[in-house]
Amino acid sequence: MRAAGRIVAETLALLKSRIRPGVTTAELDQLAEKECERHGAKPAFKGYGGFPYSICSSPNDRVVHGFPDNNPLQDGDILSIDFGVLYKGFYGDSAMTFAVGTLDDETQRLVTATRESLERAIEKSVPNGRLSDVSHAVQSWVEPKGFSVVREFVGHGIGSKLHEAPQIPNYGEAGQGPRLKAGMTLAIEPMINAGVPGVKILEDGWTAVTQDGKRSAHFEHTVAITDNGPEILTRV
Ligand code: MG
Ligand code: MG
Repeated sequence: MRAAGRIVAETLALLKSRIRPGVTTAELDQLAEKECERHGAKPAFKGYGGFPYSICSSPNDRVVHGFPDNNPLQDGDILSIDFGVLYKGFYGDSAMTFAVGTLDDETQRLVTATRESLERAIEKSVPNGRLSDVSHAVQSWVEPKGFSVVREFVGHGIGSKLHEAPQIPNYGEAGQGPRLKAGMTLAIEPMINAGVPGVKILEDGWTAVTQDGKRSAHFEHTVAITDNGPEILTRV
C-alpha cells in the first residue's frame, strides 16, 4: 500500500505542476494514464462501476466524480482531482483541490479549511480512537467557518479493494462507532461546500454538483493507522 500510495502522490504532484489557465482536464487525464503505464499500475477508477476516465475532475461547483473534458481551465478556478491506482494487488486513493492562477479570498478560505479539516481528521486516526472522532474532526473544523459538509459521499476503508468497510462520514458526534486499530487503512476524504450541503447528480449519471451552484473543495489521503500514529501513504 505504501508503493501504491507513492504512485498516487507522485502523479498528483505531476498534475499539480501542469495546472494553469488554458490547460484542459482531458490533458491531465491522459497524463495520469501515462503515469500509470510507466509505473505498471492500473488506474483505479477507469471502469469502476463504468466510470470512463482515470481521474475524477471536478472544477468549481463540481463536488466529486466529474468527467475530464476539453474546456480550458480559467484563472481563478479551483479544480478537485481525485485519483487512485491498483498496484501489486493494493489500492491507493487521494484527492486534492488545486488553484488555477489566483483565487479570490473566499475560495481560498474554503480550500484551506477543507485541507485543514483532513489534517485534523488524520490526527484522530490513532489506535484506540473511535471512528466517529475522525468524522467529528472534519465537521467541527469547517462548520464554525460557515462551510457545510457533504452528506451523500463518505470516506472508506481501503486495501485490496478500493472501497472497504467502514464508511467514514465527515460529520457526526465524537466517540461513536468501531475502535480504530493499528493496521487499519482508511481513505479519509472531506468534501466541503461554500454554501448549502446538498448536491445533485448531472445527466451523465456521475458528476455531483452543489445544489446552490457555489463552490466545493475535496481533499483525500490514504492513511495507515500504526502504533506510532497515523502514516499518510499518499503524500510525497
Ligand atoms: Mg478518491
Ligand atoms: Mg476515496
